[in-house]
Amino acid sequence: MYSKEQIQDRKTVEGMSSSSRGCYSYLVQYKNCRLLRDHQLVRDDLWVRDGIIQDPRKLFWEEKIASDKQVDCGGCIISPGFIDTQINGGFGFDFSSATTDINDSICLVAKKILAHGVTAFCPTIITSSCETYKKVSTQYSRLCDDKHSSGAKVLGLHLEGPFISKEKRGAHPSDLIRSFAEDGFNDVMNMYHVLQNVAIVTLAPEIPLSDHVIRTLTGQGIRVALGHSVANLEESERAVENGANFITHLFNAMLPFHHRDPGLVGLLGSSKIPSNKIVYYGIIADGIHTNPAALRIAYKAHPEGVVLITDAIPAMGLDPGSYSFGSVEVEVTGDGRAYVKGTTTLAGSVATLDTCVRIFKASTRCSTVQALEAASLHPARMLGIEEEQGTLNYGSRADFVMLDDNLNVLATYLAGEKVYSRTAEVRKDKEQFRGLSTAGEKRLHNGNRKAAVGVHQ
Ligand SMILES: [Zn+2]
Repeated sequence: MYSKEQIQDRKTVEGMSSSSRGCYSYLVQYKNCRLLRDHQLVRDDLWVRDGIIQDPRKLFWEEKIASDKQVDCGGCIISPGFIDTQINGGFGFDFSSATTDINDSICLVAKKILAHGVTAFCPTIITSSCETYKKVSTQYSRLCDDKHSSGAKVLGLHLEGPFISKEKRGAHPSDLIRSFAEDGFNDVMNMYHVLQNVAIVTLAPEIPLSDHVIRTLTGQGIRVALGHSVANLEESERAVENGANFITHLFNAMLPFHHRDPGLVGLLGSSKIPSNKIVYYGIIADGIHTNPAALRIAYKAHPEGVVLITDAIPAMGLDPGSYSFGSVEVEVTGDGRAYVKGTTTLAGSVATLDTCVRIFKASTRCSTVQALEAASLHPARMLGIEEEQGTLNYGSRADFVMLDDNLNVLATYLAGEKVYSRTAEVRKDKEQFRGLSTAGEKRLHNGNRKAAVGVHQ
């Protein structure tokens, strides 16, 4: 189905009638842009039909058709949409909450993160009770049936815990953390109930029986991430040998790097990793969780493994204040730090993924391409979905983001449909401002905007 505007836009090129196209499909050509393709920014056009990126050579020489509509992109960068593999909630919604419907939370967050260039994500559930996992997995399967297409695509749950180290629990509730009993995998199933909608499980590989659990999970196509752990390098390498391919928020909630036993961090330089395997590592480049020097060291050591994550908590997108996160109370300060209330333990970030891309680029002094791939290609490869997402290759889903040279998001597209435009946001904001009646209200409005900017930047 096409809008009236689209039908009017449709132009048949001389000598190429619409009937020659056979089945009627709308072809859009994005012009005057730089595409992230094959590890470089290339001046080329992007062709999209039926939500899929098209090969123009086939369109010209085999189908002999031209575009129905051309879009001038004003010289912007077009990147594959960002993929956030660790996000706990946002905009006041908590995926780990036992009291709200996860459908509502995921749908709302899925729409809001479009403004930050995120077109796919893994809703993350922190260590929870058995009842909460049951509730979440039941509700989540209903969500999958709905195919809620108006928001970022849900790629499957990331279950972070409860099989983690109490010593490195971070904001996870201590009383709910578990180890494996006699048969590790039975414990996993008794805890999670179903695995069919699970994309990633984070566990601590030093827990006895984890070898068997890692082999069984990865054998079912689930990615195993290593984190909230006191594992030494040998235990970490064995976990990778058993199938793990991801490290959860590198440097955070693990042993610090030690030169005689570098622990999980040591996987970035391990000689035991087979040459055909990449170990990926999530990293929170919000300027708070990881020092820029640490970001640079990790990136220089293992550039092809970096995956930018937000680890965002429900307070992302909200003003500073007190919020609930799972069963934990969290305090967000004016400078964008989120602490477990009454402590100095970081409880996750309030940064958005586009902010992390910009901070990562500035901190590591990497190229624009490298920064964008850390939020698109690498997470797609880690999940094994790079044939469909994370690139602008022909045949991929047309989930992409338009950015200016400073990597600010201008527009976001899902399956070739524009689902966010910064211009529209700015216009809406200006209209709201014009509608305010008194000088006092205008001052208040400005004050709120500053507070919100403080959280995001
Ligand atoms: Zn964590």
